Amino acid sequence: PETPSSSGSDTSIRPPMSAEERLMVAVRIRPLKPDETTRALYAVDKKHIILEDTDKFDVTRQKRALDKRYSFDVVFGENSTQEEVYEVTTSRLVKDVLNGYNATVFAYGPTGAGKTHTMVGDPNQPGIMVRALNDLFEAVKDKEDEYSVSMSYLEIYNEQIRDLLNPQSGYLELREDARGKSIQVAGLSEISTTSTEEVMQLLQKGNKARTIEPTAMNRTSSRSHALLSVTVRHSVPVDKKDHLRMRVRQGRLFMIDLAGSERANKTKNRGKRLQEGAHINRSLLALGNCINALSGGARYVNYRDSKLTRLLKEALSGNCKTVMIAHVSPSIAQKDESRNTLLYADRANNITNKIERNVLDVSYHVSQYHTVISELKDEITRL
Ligand code: ADP
Ligand code: MG
Repeated sequence: PETPSSSGSDTSIRPPMSAEERLMVAVRIRPLKPDETTRALYAVDKKHIILEDTDKFDVTRQKRALDKRYSFDVVFGENSTQEEVYEVTTSRLVKDVLNGYNATVFAYGPTGAGKTHTMVGDPNQPGIMVRALNDLFEAVKDKEDEYSVSMSYLEIYNEQIRDLLNPQSGYLELREDARGKSIQVAGLSEISTTSTEEVMQLLQKGNKARTIEPTAMNRTSSRSHALLSVTVRHSVPVDKKDHLRMRVRQGRLFMIDLAGSERANKTKNRGKRLQEGAHINRSLLALGNCINALSGGARYVNYRDSKLTRLLKEALSGNCKTVMIAHVSPSIAQKDESRNTLLYADRANNITNKIERNVLDVSYHVSQYHTVISELKDEITRL
């Protein structure tokens, strides 16, 4: 058999190689728009940002003293390109996933700060999701007998999960495995493909299926979290002459476009909007609480408060290399949101994960072959 199944097979986990790795925090500043006149925030260099924290009544001579300087793993200024952002944040994760590690990259920040531009982009300036899939497929090209790649794409909107590759399937539930270690979305479609074109079509279709509701702040902003998951499984015989024992390594890459992190009051939410805002805040609040707890080294972290944190549990605390890309606008009108985003990113900078490679040796149990042999015998007698 080419693909090992867990049922009936004798699966033993080899001692994994593990290492401590700090969550990488990047900040991207989007360009100033024509209707935005004044900057309150700018990149000093590739690692530092200054936020001018004066209000309009402050006198200029006090200005410098009130400026706040932040430092991050990497800062992308207003002129950064999609390629640069992908190369620095995600291209290494793609290599890790091919080698059997888990990895997550997520875009955080208020509505209109550039999250969807970074993650999805447009056909002329493709974002991280498209570039990562391209690189993955390029790497496994002509090696289809060793590699299998599958992807899923889901949305969390109002604390409900929808399958963006099959929106007709309704709301889906989260299920934990018996040991409570890994979490699954029941009924989520997993599509196997190694064709870049096919995947582009699936992504575009999925993005059209995202729940997009206008808010007073940004008419085209999405109020939903979108999670693209790509699983790469590599299996080769432990010994070329012995196809009963396979060495399998599996890596998964999560790419997440979060909903806006701004406060509900600023978007003038009413009625449905308000309820929606409350849910979005619940998910992001839960994420913020987890980040607070993890960065402070807390022994207990509550992931159960929202679907988002339940799904991100492994990325934040477990066996996963994680990159956060915080997004900010340089405009003075967004100063408060920018400050909140930078503080949040600053805390995330202190999170450390324990990274292990997922390698399994799968031996097929002899009894499985007895079954196969007797089935073949049956077939022969029927002929
Ligand atoms: P968000 O997803 O955070 O709400 P968007 O990605 O939709 O924000 O960005 C808002 C607007 O700003 C869009 O029109 C987008 O094309 C533009 N934009 C965002 N970031 C950039 C950037 N780095 N370069 C050029 N345009 C950008
Ligand atoms: Mg968006």
